[in-house]
This record gives sequence, C-alpha cells and structure tokens, in this order.
Amino acid sequence: MLRKQAITSLKGVGPKLAEKLRDYGIVEVDDLLFHLPLRYQDRTRITPIGAMIEGVEAVIEGEVRVADITFGRRRSLVARVQDGTGSVTLRFFHFNAAQKNRLRPGTRLRCFGQARRGASGLEIYHPEYQEIESSGLEVDETLTPIYPTTEGIGQKQWRKLCLQVITHLREQAPTDLLPRDAQLDYSLADALIYLHAPPPDASLEQLRDGTHPAQLRLALEELIAHNLSLRALRDRQQAVAAPALPEQTAVQEHFLDQLPFEPTRAQQRVAAEISKDLSNPIPMLRLVQGDVGSGKTLVAAVAALQAISNGYQVAIMAPTELLAEQHLINFTAWFESYPFEITWLSGRIKGKKREAALGTLADGSAALVIGTHALFQDDVMFAKLGLVIVDEQHRFGVHQRLALTGRGQQTTRPHQLVMTATPIPRTLSMVAYADLDCSVIDELPPGRQPVETLLVDNARRDQIVERVANACRSGRQAYWVCTLIEESESLQAQAAEATEQELRSQLSGVEIGLVHGRQKPADKAAMMAAFKAGEVDLLVATTVIEVGVDVPNASLMIIENPERLGLAQLHQLRGRVGRGSTASHCVLLYQTPLGMNSKARLQAMRTSSDGFFIAEKDLELRGPGEVLGTRQTGLMEFRIARLPEHEHLLEQVQTLAEQLRQQHPELAQALIQRWTGDRQAYAQV
Ligand code: ADP
Ligand code: MG
Repeated sequence: MLRKQAITSLKGVGPKLAEKLRDYGIVEVDDLLFHLPLRYQDRTRITPIGAMIEGVEAVIEGEVRVADITFGRRRSLVARVQDGTGSVTLRFFHFNAAQKNRLRPGTRLRCFGQARRGASGLEIYHPEYQEIESSGLEVDETLTPIYPTTEGIGQKQWRKLCLQVITHLREQAPTDLLPRDAQLDYSLADALIYLHAPPPDASLEQLRDGTHPAQLRLALEELIAHNLSLRALRDRQQAVAAPALPEQTAVQEHFLDQLPFEPTRAQQRVAAEISKDLSNPIPMLRLVQGDVGSGKTLVAAVAALQAISNGYQVAIMAPTELLAEQHLINFTAWFESYPFEITWLSGRIKGKKREAALGTLADGSAALVIGTHALFQDDVMFAKLGLVIVDEQHRFGVHQRLALTGRGQQTTRPHQLVMTATPIPRTLSMVAYADLDCSVIDELPPGRQPVETLLVDNARRDQIVERVANACRSGRQAYWVCTLIEESESLQAQAAEATEQELRSQLSGVEIGLVHGRQKPADKAAMMAAFKAGEVDLLVATTVIEVGVDVPNASLMIIENPERLGLAQLHQLRGRVGRGSTASHCVLLYQTPLGMNSKARLQAMRTSSDGFFIAEKDLELRGPGEVLGTRQTGLMEFRIARLPEHEHLLEQVQTLAEQLRQQHPELAQALIQRWTGDRQAYAQV
C-alpha cells in the first residue's frame, strides 16, 4: 500500500523537501492526506469585471487599455483592463521594465486577485496574471486549495503533492476508523478528496464557515482523536498509584472554624469532591472552575491541609510572581498556628537562598512550597510530594503541569488540582480538559456588590480624573490600570510610570502609588501592603494586578485601552473591585475608533458580570487559542475542527470516543496516531 510509504516515494519529493515536510509532521504519504487546506479560491469561472465585488477574489479576463507608471505616494505600474461589462485597475508596486513593456494596450489578460476600493473604482494589487494567446485558456475544474505553509514550500508544490495523493486515495481508500453506526455523510476518503479538491459547485461560503458536511465529517474524527489522546494521557497518569490521603476531619474542621466567614455551599461541595479524590490511591486529576472571587483559594487550602496532615508535601504554583506572593501571604496567615514550614520559590530566588529552599523540599522539612514557574526546573526535587495545586491553569501548558508530577524520589504520583482564573466555556473545557474531572464553584460569597461598568471615550479623560479625585478624597481607594498590546514588561512599566507622573500632577492631595512587574519584589510587596493598609489612595498598576490581588476597600477601577485586552483578562481585572460592601465601579477608558469586534467585547463587559457568559462571548469573538492562552503551545491548533463553530458535534464526540475506548482500543490508538502523531510527544510522562 503506497500510503504507508515514506513521503519520498512521491514524485518531486527529494531529501530537501522531505526535511521541510517533516517540520509539519509529514513523514509518510498518509500524513499528507491530513494536511488540509486553510481556505479556497474559485478559479473555476470567469467573473465579468462589472460584477466584481470588493474584497472577493475572482478570475477576470479583459483587454489592456492603458498602462503607465504613476508617481503618487508610491511609484507604481498601473494598467487599466476592460471587458464588455466594466473596467478595473491593476496596480503593481514592484515591477520591472520588461513587465511594463508587455502590458501593451490591446493585450488580452487573465487575472486573479482580490478587488479593493481605489481612488477611481476597483483596483487589484499585484494580481496573478497571464497573457491570453489566440487559443484561449482553460479554467480550473476544482476550487483551488490554499494550504497552510511556511517559507520554502509554495502553494503549487503543495497542490502537486496533494493531487498525487488524491489519485491514490481514489484507487485505494484509507481505513475508516469510526464506528459504522456513527451514520456519517461521507466516508473518510470521500471527505478528504472533497476537501483537497472541491468541485466547482461547492459552496465557498460553507467551506469558509467550516459547515460543509465533508468538513464536519473530518472535524468529528479529529475531535474524537483529540479526546482520545487526552483520555490516554489520563490513563497513563493514573497507571501509577498516588498516595491515599484520607480526610482529616478534625484538622480540616478546626481550620474552617477559625475563619472569619462560613464557606459557601459551593465551596463545601467542591472541597468534599476533592477530599474524596485525595483519599483514593488513584492520582486525582481535577479542574476547579469558579468565577473571579468565588473563593477558589480556600478550597485549595482545605485540600492542602488534608495532604499535609497525612504527612505529604504540597506544591502550589501560580503564573505570576505577584499572584504567588498573594498566595504566600494568604497561606502563611491561614496556617500561622500550624506546625509546618512553608517555602517560597520564585525565579528571583538565586544562589545560596535557592539551594536552601530546594533543600527544604528535598529533605521534606517544608510541608508546603508556593512559587512560580521556578518550580518546574529540573533540579527541584521533593521528598514526599502528595499534591500539586496549579492556580490559573491556562497560563501553563499541559506539559508544564505534567513536568512537576513526574518529580521526586518516590514511586507514587502526586494528586493534581488545577484551578482556572476565570470560567472556561463548557464546550471548550470538554475539549481542552477532557483529561480532567471538573468541579464548579457556582456561587459567590454573600454580600458581594455588583460592579457597575461604564464605557468612556478617552477624550473625556479629564472627567474621569476628576471622578478619581472625588472618590479618593471621600476615603475610597482606586486602581488605575495601564495596558499595552506588547507583552513586554518593561514597556508596560514605562507606560505606567508615565501615567503615574501625569496623574500626580493632576491630583493634589491624593496619595498615589505605583506597582509593576519590573520592581523589586520587596518594593512591590511594600506597595501592595501600603495600598491594603489604606496608606495609598490610588494605585497605578500594570496588568500584574490582574490576578489574585485582594483589597476590599478599593471600589473604583479605571482600565486604560481596554479594547486591547481579551474579555477574560478584563473580567479578571474588574474582579479586583466589588470585594467590599460599597458599590463599585469600573471605567473602561477606550481609545476611538473602536472596531466592531472591540465594540462587541466592551459591550459584553458593560452588560454582564457573569464570568461564564463572558467566557462564552470571548470564545465566540476571539477563538479558543486566545481564551485558553495556549496559542503558542499549539495544543488547541486543530487541522479542521473549530470552536465554537463545531460545538454541536461535541456530544457525539464524547459518545463515540467512549465507545471506541471500551470496544476498540486498537482503533482508538490508530486515530490518535493519525491525527495527533508527533504532538503526542509531550504526553510521554
Ligand atoms: P478566586 O476564586 O478569584 O481565586 P479568592 O480565593 O481570591 O477568589 O477569594 C476572594 C476573596 O473572598 C478572598 O478575600 C477570600 O478570603 C474571600 N472569601 C473566600 N471564601 C469566602 C466566603 N465563603 N465568605 C466570605 N469571603 C470569602
Ligand atoms: Mg484566585
């Protein structure tokens, strides 16, 4: 069978191209089948020039009327082409003399490109074109696929490769791995053929939206494969035993009794679910979701206590230093009267201090370690790690999470508790966290004030500054959050410093503080403490305060350039106010003009304070990669499946995946191999 053969068995594939293809995970001919087009062009028909639509790609034919070099803002070669229905301008910014000479008036051309609005009607920048000789040119018989690619492999090359494969597909269909009773519209081979070479009557619109039945057929299979691979990951993790850590009723109840508040019913329920998991000798793999301020930290503390009371160590990881510090402060206070040591480990702890910290983990003298990414380093060893708690999970990749659980001189695997910063849409968590059990804290502590959100044009900035002044002078506290597109901490810090200076000159009598990621940890901590103590009225900050910061007296937040942030991040930020008993406000100080998408996002923030609703909107407006923050890790990069567009398939995905796991493990394995191949590497823990 050819498809099991090396990719080099195809015509035109030498060692050089084979190496480039390997970067795509394409090693065998079969892999190439699943390298699917991103989009399509319709070169199957000639569009009358008069019927061209702005923004739509089309093939046109016409006669050159004039061709000239113009010297506008940029020198360009311009040719006016006309058919019986209208005319269009071809514009080239890069051209040579020979090209100009060939575009003589009277020359007939076939062009392909996208029309855009120019000064004098429609224009096409850099169209593909060729001269029509007297014999004329044929049109394509199928839509033209555009493949995902990088430098070094051209579209023509991809098409040539895929056409060869299609020929073989027609001769010998690949095995259908999905159960026959799944009632699919297309066989695997037919769906692949259709998508590599759609017929001229295929709906470009359906193909663009991902709703064509051939696409649905493959998306279903891909989602099943993805689901199976995460479940296989779960099985592998649970193949090793975890320590059984039975409930420590007396200790845990005593802990809750000393708190100044009662846990909510949702917190109690989730804590009980975790407690039950921990008492089993199977590694817990649990995700805790809850809206901002729902009290996830307390649930984590109760779990930590259970592990520690059983003589095991607990590691708590947070994505930013500031958040990790907040945890350190909280846990140190909560566990003050308990006889165990808490160790702190961040990237800034170096040299002797770091060695000492690592020592307490390796010899077991520390029961609890709180830290950042620094906990992932290879030389971090534990004497008796029983529970790993990862806060704000989606900033870490799955592989990072797993890296820590394989640690330690022990034969058991620690339990894992993952907490998300904000809710994740249900559909997305079904896909992205199919390896985890899920608990939801669906209740906020009593007495929370809803935060009123206002959208204000930056042109009215002075009024907002006035408002901040009034709030601060009447004893309230406020945040002023500076954001930038760039992830660069130093640019963010500069912007915050500039804003602080400006506000200082405008707000006399208001005590202003500054906190950003470039400050020394001690300075940052001192500033946060001063704000918490009410010595600072207005805290100018970067998005470092996004997660975990907790100052109940702060009841006003200004967010600059909110249009640059995702909804989840805005919701997180806004969650810093509305924690006390005063009515709170959040001002989104946007820059005009706002795009449609930004407008929709800001409106969602204004009208809703429900994290689950906001997460759904975010998914709709920005897609799964952004919502999960996993764009770089490639984990949610599907070849064909899309969310939320394909969410209606998910129920079937779960049913079929389960059926395959139970009844046809060998097919399940083959599906994982087919769709995820090398990307499985991370899962070898
Ligand atoms: P998040 O779920 O966003 O991580 P936190 O765990 O930071 O929320 O909790 C937010 C605040 O609510 C903290 O100050 C915490 O002490 C407080 N809190 C937690 N649980 C309760 C409760 N049951 N009643 C009152 N306050 C609570
Ligand atoms: Mg939290």
